[in-house]
Amino acid sequence: MDSYIAMVYLLSGALFILGLKGLSHPDKARRGILYAEIGMLLAVAGTLLHKDIVRYEWIVTALFVGSAIGAAMAIYMPMTAMPQRIALSHAGGALAAALVGVAEYFLPNGHINSTVMAALAFEVLFGGITFTGSLMAFGKLQEIISGVPITYKGQNAVNISLFVLASAIGIYLVVNPANAVLFVILFILSMVLGVLFIMPIGGADMPTVISLLNSYAGLAGAATGFVLENNVLIIAGALDGTSGFLLSVIMCKAMNRSFTNVLFGAFGQVTATAAAPSAEKANIWSGTPQEAADAFRNAKSVIVVPGYGMAVAQAQHAVRDLATLLEKNGTSVKYAIHPVAGRMPGHMNVLLAEANVPYDQLIDMDDINPEFEQTDVSLVIGANDVVNPAAKTDPASPIYGMPILDVDKSKMVMVLKRSMNPGFAGIDNALFIQPNTMMVFGDAKGTLIKISDALKA
Ligand code: NDP
Repeated sequence: MDSYIAMVYLLSGALFILGLKGLSHPDKARRGILYAEIGMLLAVAGTLLHKDIVRYEWIVTALFVGSAIGAAMAIYMPMTAMPQRIALSHAGGALAAALVGVAEYFLPNGHINSTVMAALAFEVLFGGITFTGSLMAFGKLQEIISGVPITYKGQNAVNISLFVLASAIGIYLVVNPANAVLFVILFILSMVLGVLFIMPIGGADMPTVISLLNSYAGLAGAATGFVLENNVLIIAGALDGTSGFLLSVIMCKAMNRSFTNVLFGAFGQVTATAAAPSAEKANIWSGTPQEAADAFRNAKSVIVVPGYGMAVAQAQHAVRDLATLLEKNGTSVKYAIHPVAGRMPGHMNVLLAEANVPYDQLIDMDDINPEFEQTDVSLVIGANDVVNPAAKTDPASPIYGMPILDVDKSKMVMVLKRSMNPGFAGIDNALFIQPNTMMVFGDAKGTLIKISDALKA
């Protein structure tokens, strides 16, 4: 039986890798998810055949409870709440890893040597941090907890000292595994650290943090695999750990920010103070949906630039309808995708795919940037920071150096948003007062529907 289980685990490990590979391109992503799902099914089925399982009642009960919670989350949580949903999944996974560690430690017949103790300490430390850290991230994203960074003097020193203390306890336990009181202190301290680490990070930085916590949860899972001598847990944990870490690196690079800036920079505090000029005060061109439709009638080429506001307005279907009308009129339509548009990587791709926008029309930033100069109309839908020219021109700007979409170079820019308020970075955007920029104020979905109606008329 053991060799069958080993084969099943090997197969599921291969399917997890194929799953990750599939996720690297939108048109293979669904297949990738299917591979990963089959891999997980095989891993669970293989584990259930294990000879050490003596009773199935608790496992079956947990299976039903877990499936019911998972199904409810998948059905009822909206796409805009995807980062929160992921945070909750990580919290659950990390708590499971930490609790397995606690159970293994206190098991009456468990033999804990130094190697097992090292894996247990790691598992409990990272599991605990990820559990409460992910719950904090969920709370901030769901606005149950204020998204404003909570900071105090000497905060980073306190956090680092406590982490060093927790690591020292872990190392001591490796030498003296029998000290149960210290083990419990390590578990409690790790959960306190999760809260303290996330407190000073702004709500909008949570997606990057969640991706990092994902990698911690993966590492805790891999450590659990070493404790339980379970190969598929080691493989899945290692894949989770590295892919989460790489994703955080990619996100930081796309924002031109360092890891330390995200984790310790308290970014997002400026939002409350940096008020943008009101529409009346600033010298801006404010147009109506009818004027927008007139501009589209004469356009040969249009590039749609979606941002976080498109997700908030759930305007993806209305965008697709407008694009269909424009294409019928002989206009070429493409979509420019910034790597950190929205609030999670791939946010725009997922929404546009939901509205059946063809994948070949979604063009990555580096490929589409040279095209803006020849484009008649750039239609910016709820995007702000990712099109802010200050990133190229103003060394004092917090987003200076962040690569942006060069919409300012197109012949006409049309921006759909509700006000002159800033986006995530909390800064003004000179694009909105450019002479060739027309602002069409209102909820993006409503405005798009009005533009389409005007075009049809
Ligand atoms: P921004 O957050 O810069 O701007 C979004 C804009 O959408 C706002 O200015 C808002 O203006 C507008 N908006 C909100 N609701 C609506 C609505 N219903 N209808 C129309 N407009 C609306 O978004 P971007 O996508 O340009 O930039 C993403 C930002 O998030 C970047 O700074 C990035 O670094 C950051 N970030 C991204 C991550 C990712 O993985 N994608 C992760 C972490 C951070 P108004 O209120 O006037 O309507």
